[in-house]
Amino acid sequence: IERTLVLLKPDAVQRKICGEIISRFERKGLALTALKLLALPPETAAKHYEEHLGKSFYPALIEFITSGPIVAMVLSGPNAVKVVRAMMGTTNPVDAMPGTIRGDYATVMSSNIVHGSDSIASAQREIAIYFTEQELV
Ligand code: ATP
Ligand code: MG
Repeated sequence: IERTLVLLKPDAVQRKICGEIISRFERKGLALTALKLLALPPETAAKHYEEHLGKSFYPALIEFITSGPIVAMVLSGPNAVKVVRAMMGTTNPVDAMPGTIRGDYATVMSSNIVHGSDSIASAQREIAIYFTEQELV
């Protein structure tokens, strides 16, 4: 069974739509395998987004993702990585189709509600940043 890491970003927590978003994933058929609310330390944020180090938007990205509590979860199911990415919609909410999470809840790229691992390799790397093996049910 495939696993993927999903983050509900500070804007999702602040807007109190975490339950709605988790419901979408559950309704789709994905299983919750781990779940926590946390304030992301800057060093952990840097590790998570290391692929973007040096890009123009990197400082704002780290500032945003550490601006308030986030929800981290591992979702499991067949094709979990691709299924979650499809449900999220495109990175820029302007282009995200209605019916996707970003298409339904976001308007700007800097606050786009949700993160999902972009490959199985990324999922393995990212899950280990947030969860110990023991925390995965
Ligand atoms: P995420 O990794 O957060 O799930 P993603 O995989 O769709 O999003 P990435 O390319 O990994 O997109 O970018 C990570 C985050 O950095 C995006 O969610 C967005 O908030 C921000 N970002 C990406 N590209 C840009 C850009 N060109 N301008 C501003 N912000 C950007
Ligand atoms: Mg990404």
